[in-house]
Amino acid sequence: MRYVSTRGQSPAQDFAGVLLAGLAPDGGLYMPETWPHFSHADLRHLRGLPYAELAARVIAPFTGDAVPFATLQALCRDAYAGFRHPATIPLVQLGPNLWALELFHGPTLAFKDLAMQLLGRLFDHVLRQHGRRITIVGATSGDTGSAAIEACRGRAAIDIAILHPAGRTSEVQRRQMTTPDAGNVLNIAVDGNFDDCQDLVKAMFADAAFRDQMRLSAVNSINWARIAAQIPYYIASALAVGAPEREVVFAVPTGNFGNVLAAWAARRMGLPVARLTVASNRNDILARFLADRDMSVRDVEPSLSPSMDIAISSNFERLLFELLGRDPVLTAEIMTGFRATGRMDVPEAAWRRARTLFDGFRLDDEGTTAEIARLHIECGYLADPHTAIGIAAARAHPCGPLPTIAAATAHPAKFPDAMQHATGVRPPLPAHLADLYDRQERFSTAPADLAQVQSVIRAFVSRNSP
Ligand SMILES: *Cc1c(COP(=O)(O)O)cnc(C)c1O
Repeated sequence: MRYVSTRGQSPAQDFAGVLLAGLAPDGGLYMPETWPHFSHADLRHLRGLPYAELAARVIAPFTGDAVPFATLQALCRDAYAGFRHPATIPLVQLGPNLWALELFHGPTLAFKDLAMQLLGRLFDHVLRQHGRRITIVGATSGDTGSAAIEACRGRAAIDIAILHPAGRTSEVQRRQMTTPDAGNVLNIAVDGNFDDCQDLVKAMFADAAFRDQMRLSAVNSINWARIAAQIPYYIASALAVGAPEREVVFAVPTGNFGNVLAAWAARRMGLPVARLTVASNRNDILARFLADRDMSVRDVEPSLSPSMDIAISSNFERLLFELLGRDPVLTAEIMTGFRATGRMDVPEAAWRRARTLFDGFRLDDEGTTAEIARLHIECGYLADPHTAIGIAAARAHPCGPLPTIAAATAHPAKFPDAMQHATGVRPPLPAHLADLYDRQERFSTAPADLAQVQSVIRAFVSRNSP
């Protein structure tokens, strides 16, 4: 399988190249040159397989020759063995035609583990084959950092350094990052806010000498491999409620558009999906776009669902490319205009095409709290704020008798204050994290200063690969 850039100015790459590069050199995002196809018979053959096996078969066309199938199977088995539910991704029925797809049984209790756990192993495999080592650097305000650390800790070919704003993450989030005991993990508590951390990471990638010397890499949400690893759970859950004989509907709590794009990809590959609902909090750029073709950037406002607090959904570029009939020149032109003006000028025909499949939905904090309370009272179900928005979106767009699956993206114990406020219940952490508050934390501290952060990372990397 070859991959092309949405902006058409970078050479095609194979899976290993795309995995290691993340962003294409022309600023575009990589897309598969052609979409794999699963016929209804192919889909029926996947029904009832253990999740790891199903995942390997769905991902195999994307990895192509870069990873032998037997290796991919082993990596998938290993990646999902650490999930704390025998079904890996259980479905919980909440209404006559409504299910929650629980994607939060991985080590850090958010859906990002499903892609990250496999990505860490794929990186390690590809790097070892090429005899290379890399240093993954990232900034986090919470979920992504811990998912990346859990995925990379102890891997031979990877060092990982994560910057977080000192004193500005929740205690659960900080401890999830700072307590894994592995020599290849470095946490830096930066005296500053999240934007300072992100600026430092950008500056490190812009410093060519440092970037090359440290062999910097990233695992951010525009990496194609993360999207590919999110497609199998849409197929597995649809099969469980009657696909391919029945069409299904998905509702997905959305920030960067990565998770819902994977649902779109599953449909593109042959899964019968009738509609996709994009659920947002008050940061509603996608809901405004779908309602009025208004894709304009506004300041981010903090909400009860922080992982959806975004100004721009970077993976939307991939859908745009498809809506434009894969025209890279027009895609590049629209994205350049968007960067310059803060408003994306999507042609009306492309917008109409999006509306034939996607519905937008927006819910503020008050509505989110009400939905958490309602689910607790009516179904005895504890939905975290992100999940509650997805379920509310599914209920707002009923599709008659079609089964609707709402993605449950985080465990309620990650947001104990919001849960207690809405339901009076403070959900306990699962057993594997029950002693989180007793574990020893390890982190360095640094001011928000490029030279000082770089010297902390340099010392860490040279200690690990002298
Ligand atoms: C990251 C995240 C989201 C948003 O997913 P995208 O792929 O960025 O759209 C939603 N919910 C939770 C809990 C998350 O961690």
